[in-house]
Amino acid sequence: MTLPESKEWLLDEENELRIEIDFDTKVKLRLVTGTAEVFGTELGQNVDYEFSGRKIAVFTWHGCKILITGTCSVEYIANETPMLSYLNTHIALEQRRVLATQNNKAGPRIMIVGPNDVGKTSLSKMLLSYALRQSRQPIYVDLDCSEGSITMPGCLTATPLTEMIDVEEGFGSSATSAPTAGSAVMPLAYYYGFPSPKDNSKLYSLLLARLAQSVNRRLEEDEAARTSGIVIDTNGLIDATGYEIIAQCIKAFSVDVIIVLGHERLYADMTRLHQKSGVAVIKLAKSGGVVERDTAFRRQTQNQKIREYFYGTSKSELAPYSTMINFHDIEILRVGEGSLAPSSALPIGEDRKVSETHVVNVEPSENLLHSVLAVSNADKRVEPDILETNLAGFIYVSEIHDARKKLTVLSPCPGRIPKKFWWLGSLKWAED
Ligand code: ADP
Repeated sequence: MTLPESKEWLLDEENELRIEIDFDTKVKLRLVTGTAEVFGTELGQNVDYEFSGRKIAVFTWHGCKILITGTCSVEYIANETPMLSYLNTHIALEQRRVLATQNNKAGPRIMIVGPNDVGKTSLSKMLLSYALRQSRQPIYVDLDCSEGSITMPGCLTATPLTEMIDVEEGFGSSATSAPTAGSAVMPLAYYYGFPSPKDNSKLYSLLLARLAQSVNRRLEEDEAARTSGIVIDTNGLIDATGYEIIAQCIKAFSVDVIIVLGHERLYADMTRLHQKSGVAVIKLAKSGGVVERDTAFRRQTQNQKIREYFYGTSKSELAPYSTMINFHDIEILRVGEGSLAPSSALPIGEDRKVSETHVVNVEPSENLLHSVLAVSNADKRVEPDILETNLAGFIYVSEIHDARKKLTVLSPCPGRIPKKFWWLGSLKWAED
């Protein structure tokens, strides 16, 4: 057996090592000397960090030596980065937090906007990590339903952060599985079920309002979170629908800082539309390291996320439980079935908007095989409340026994699945 190749990299101060690792490869990264960080989280010296299917930057403020073991598909050092401007932004935000603490007011409520693949999620992680490094406890709000940084794709989520973001696992893929997953604080997740806010804008806006309500309540009760503020990561929609969502978000979360990443026109529009109402609009450059992700890469990331939700990572493995469920013990629901029908085909008096939040039953059948369903915390089916009920977690349909009217599901928790209502979206996963 040949040992994987190792390579040492010497980075000068304010340099960044950018690496890309394929999904079928594992690469180990070790900080040998000096200091370095990955999207704001400091690396420990002589600790091996393992990555697969990732594109990352290892940045150093003061210089360092990095050892990479394994084969990266891309690896190079960049000496031009926007990191100083990102740090200065953090310092300005921290000043707001200091003032908020002194005056018992709310800390900054930051929203990061820009097109797809400009580094919004990476900047969110950095700003949150820098705040955590100063013992702040900010709330991370993820409105990017295509990605699912905190849980699964298709959700709108918020999570109060108290511990550093993990270098290898990010925000943690199994955080909503159940308290057994070891997460100190359960993130709040609402199920949307589509990849783009445009797919069902009425439902998206309903859930955004609900999430904001819950976050605002949390901020009222939790002083550390209130003074630390929130960071909102958005989807990359910057057309008319995107602008409407941004405006709704500003109002709902009382956003007072908008960071526009890598888009001049969006910056000009945000300044024109929102600065007069007291919102600070900041323009930051996109890092040259941000990588455009094609559909295949996004799909693979999604698969990796689902896999990690049930099986954990190599660092913290989970063993999912297989359970057989009777069709009649559950109700599988789906939203907005009628939204695809032309308006003329809708019942008289019911417009398209209503049908967009209409809840319909789905009969269990072979079609459900390999679907990932979201388990609602609702005990009763009351509309529209059930749409706005948060999630208990997710299950995966591994077998359908049509004749016996049963299905087998994988879940991260043992025993019977205590909840009756399961949401079906567009998420499928072929377990490998
Ligand atoms: P957005 O949220 O705007 O879609 P992301 O922050 O998710 O963009 O970045 C897109 C991809 O580029 C991600 O895979 C991320 O890990 C990667 N990336 C971001 N910044 C860098 C960088 N400086 N060097 C290398 N890869 C990066």
